[in-house]
Amino acid sequence: MKKDIQIGYDYFKNSSELNDIENTLFARAKQARENAYAPYSNFLVGCSVLLENGEIFSGNNQENAAFPSGLCAERTTLFWVAANFPNEKIKKIFIVGGPREFHEKNPPIPPCGACRQSLIEYETKQNENIDLYFSSMNDVVVKVNSIKDLLPFYFDATFL
Ligand SMILES: [Zn+2]
Repeated sequence: MKKDIQIGYDYFKNSSELNDIENTLFARAKQARENAYAPYSNFLVGCSVLLENGEIFSGNNQENAAFPSGLCAERTTLFWVAANFPNEKIKKIFIVGGPREFHEKNPPIPPCGACRQSLIEYETKQNENIDLYFSSMNDVVVKVNSIKDLLPFYFDATFL
């Protein structure tokens, strides 16, 4: 028996199609990207998070000469937020990334597999989906309504 998995997503041709809060999150993620510490990959990523209380926090990727010791922008941001606001639900997360020498054709940059796994943990914990947006600097934005859409057959605490 063959089964299919189907996901839906929103595709925004440019930021004029985003609403106010989405544009704010996009701007904050771009701003955070400028401060990324990525001297090795020269691949800069910024991330912003909207909490249920309306506050927005941001972060960026942090690399290390010992490569595995660095961390993606998504988890840098997520772990800080979870550490400081453990009881606030995460409503939206916005990711913007691309090479330092940005090219107009760079596609939207989705979160890596490890970040998807980390995001699933918080979505499961808060029992409420997180809107996830990812983009490159060229203004094209992709949105999914749950992290689970990006990680079919995800592993979580129900298996333990
Ligand atoms: Zn990642």
